[in-house]
Amino acid sequence: MTFSKPNLSINGDRLWSTIMETAAFGATDDGGVRRLALSEEDRLVRDWFVARCDEMGCTIKIDALGNIFALRAGEDAHALPVAMGSHLDTQPTGGKFDGILGVLAGLEVFRTLDERSIRTKKPLALVNWTNEEGARFAPAMMASGVHAGALTLDEIYASRDEQGITVREALETIGYVGNEEMGTTQFDAMFELHIEQGPVLEAEGKAIGVVTGVQGMRWFRIEIGGQASHAGTTPMALRRDALATAAELMLAMRQVALDNEALATFGTISVENGSQNVVPGKVNLTLDLRAPREEQLDAMEAVLDALAADQRYASTPIRHAIIWRKAPVVFDADCVEAVANSAEARGLTWQHIVSGAGHDAAYVAGVAPTSMIFVPCLDGLSHNPAESATVQDCANGAQVLLDAVLGRAGIVDPEVAAAAS
Ligand SMILES: [Zn+2]
Repeated sequence: MTFSKPNLSINGDRLWSTIMETAAFGATDDGGVRRLALSEEDRLVRDWFVARCDEMGCTIKIDALGNIFALRAGEDAHALPVAMGSHLDTQPTGGKFDGILGVLAGLEVFRTLDERSIRTKKPLALVNWTNEEGARFAPAMMASGVHAGALTLDEIYASRDEQGITVREALETIGYVGNEEMGTTQFDAMFELHIEQGPVLEAEGKAIGVVTGVQGMRWFRIEIGGQASHAGTTPMALRRDALATAAELMLAMRQVALDNEALATFGTISVENGSQNVVPGKVNLTLDLRAPREEQLDAMEAVLDALAADQRYASTPIRHAIIWRKAPVVFDADCVEAVANSAEARGLTWQHIVSGAGHDAAYVAGVAPTSMIFVPCLDGLSHNPAESATVQDCANGAQVLLDAVLGRAGIVDPEVAAAAS
């Protein structure tokens, strides 16, 4: 779609003050934010968000899982809305930016358009996805998952927190069981702005990460057998040392990850009944494999299978089971290009990047063209009170969001809009 785009600039200072204003909902003494999904703090920020969208004349729709859709009318009432959005909940030790930046930047887009009285051809939508973090209720990204049909409403309603409260009960308590059926609000496309939550953009000195997808994951539970025996009387050659085999396995998986430009992490390891003077007889490990492409995950899993079948380890058998898997997500090529073009047109430095963390956009990508915009965060830190991004970084992200969304939605009268800018 080509049209002359007015030179619309978002207001970075206004966006920043909105970020600081909302950081008060669940603010902690150490400068962080604790706003668990469906908590009282979550209710407060939701009410605030709905009020702001409402006063701008948006139509508010809330679905059965409390996802909030603020719709801004377009010229073509039959067109699907171009959506923006992220999440308002945080980890227990969260910061001021993870999630909420993507929602508030969308709000800033609405405010910028309102200020110039700009109407888009397609409608716009701004979304708050319930419980992205998965900290209080598992799993993470549950509500975008149900929206996209990847999870069922019944299973998610039944998920309980540590106090035994279900998602359904918590939604009722804060008054956010909406009457919209799940998945009713479909999108022409969705763009999610988020802090990177990693150190790459900062290290590369890039202002914008053009996110091409979300890496896939496979989780394994591994048990290595052997025989516990006396450390002083069992000769090395006769040992069935489960931990020695674990060490070989860990180094082999590290190598295959390096060879495939992928990630392999043994996050937990324990020796059953371990003791100073006993040869380890049984070891339990967890393995987390991640990569942007299925072939890379296949290559790593093949090595794990081969090691488990290797006769060298017959006396210390390696048993492994996959306990969770998530396929890599590849974002829509047009949406990715729209983000890259927007960054380029604004003279911002950018690079392609694959998200290492999960996001609502990963589920939405299953039902609508989707992509994400990353901005750098200090030291790549997130899920931490010290999580930080600059005024300029946030403004850059919101600007790219605005441009990408307008490119997709179109504006009703570019000449009039251009003259007004
Ligand atoms: Zn997030």
